[in-house]
Amino acid sequence: MAEKTIHLKIITPEKIVFEDDVDAVYAQGKDGSFGVLPNHIPFMSSLAVDTAKAEKNGEVFNFSIIGGTFQFKNNEAIILSEAAECGNDIDTTRAQLAKERAEAMLSNAETKRDIKLANAAIARAMARLKAASKR
Ligand code: ATP
Repeated sequence: MAEKTIHLKIITPEKIVFEDDVDAVYAQGKDGSFGVLPNHIPFMSSLAVDTAKAEKNGEVFNFSIIGGTFQFKNNEAIILSEAAECGNDIDTTRAQLAKERAEAMLSNAETKRDIKLANAAIARAMARLKAASKR
């Protein structure tokens, strides 16, 4: 029988960030953005360091997602990520400071590794600021 909702779980090594039945899930894959509605075929994607969104009865939930994977099967969506936060739980001052620190690190970078680490920290901070700006 056709289902009307998706059971969404957003999981990090630390905790379950979100678990609920929702109407739709949208996320940013490494190859572009995508959305799933109930009864979508099984699907998997690598996630970018960016945001994701779930809709339930007209309510929208925004999340920052620090990479990871998205799996969809039998109307269960699982986002497994190194870190993820609900938009409402994001400390924007912390994210802004992290971004400024990383930008300073980038301008003083001496090795490719420094550049990579700084860019990754900037991407994490930007994902958090983007998710928080939608709350
Ligand atoms: P910071 O330099 O501020 O620690 P970071 O990008 O190095 O940022 P992470 O290593 O990605 O932080 O995350 C460490 C933990 O802190 C995770 O549990 C993550 O959810 C949480 N976290 C990081 N930044 C924020 C934020 N701005 N608001 C809320 N939680 C955050």
